[in-house]
Amino acid sequence: QEEYIRKPDWLKVKINTNESFTGLKKLMREKKLNTVCEEARCPNIHECWSERKTATFMILGDTCTRGCRFCAVKTGLPNELDLGEPERVAESVEIMGLKHVVVTAVARDDLKDGGAAVFAETVRAIRRRMSATTVEILPSDMKGDYESLHTLMDSAPDIFNHNIETVRRLTKRVRARAMYDRSLQLLERVKEIAPNTPTKSSIMVGLGETKEEIIETMDDLRAHNVDIMAIGQYLQPTKKHLNVERYYHPDEFAELKEIALSKGFSHCEAGPMVRSSYHADEQVNATSAQ
Ligand code: SF4
Ligand code: SF4
Repeated sequence: QEEYIRKPDWLKVKINTNESFTGLKKLMREKKLNTVCEEARCPNIHECWSERKTATFMILGDTCTRGCRFCAVKTGLPNELDLGEPERVAESVEIMGLKHVVVTAVARDDLKDGGAAVFAETVRAIRRRMSATTVEILPSDMKGDYESLHTLMDSAPDIFNHNIETVRRLTKRVRARAMYDRSLQLLERVKEIAPNTPTKSSIMVGLGETKEEIIETMDDLRAHNVDIMAIGQYLQPTKKHLNVERYYHPDEFAELKEIALSKGFSHCEAGPMVRSSYHADEQVNATSAQ
């Protein structure tokens, strides 16, 4: 199907490629690190890196063992596990002077622990150098393996984030090898392990979901004690990825945010350019009253 709907004006932002982070981009290459900010050509990079002092590192290599149909990360045989990565991430966090760091990873279904040990070591390495920096982790579902989840939680992240990505009905089409209920259970389990750690999950809209289905997802997340929700517009990274079915108007995002807050989320970011890690620095200590 070759029919594309036109991108609305509110999404045509000028990407600010101001020289202030040419240096930072060079740093990433030197340290052989990947950030979602760069990989996903995130429109918020200027605000996040320069003003808010936050960034999202993608560890465990640049190649994912899954191939979700919305995601621009390359799929294939994974990289060899890089045990020096945690320290290099921590060094970069220090050089960038970050106040809030999101650590995410490609899905490493090839590893027994899904990469949890290196993930946890990355959190610890950041803490050792930058004790005041808050750290949010955004892992895959770790194949639902609770031992790996415990390994992750032992590093005591400030926020646990796992994205449900879309509504129940579209999960199979949108996410590779992921299950809606498994993600919900994972989030709930985190609350059992660490009741005071805020949990967070995001969805993309524009993939063909209905408003009722979005609300159902909010209810499902709340029923599993999730504290924070983010809702953003899905944008098609290349023509091989899923088409955008609809662009939501900023007013519709505002309405979704209202609904989310009325459901009891302590915090909700919703907007055309909202990403899972957007304004994450404001969400530490956002545990909602249970
Ligand atoms: Fe990076 Fe997230 Fe900010 Fe985008 S919103 S620049 S991915 S930290
Ligand atoms: Fe992208 Fe994550 Fe899916 Fe891998 S598991 S394809 S990194 S969304």
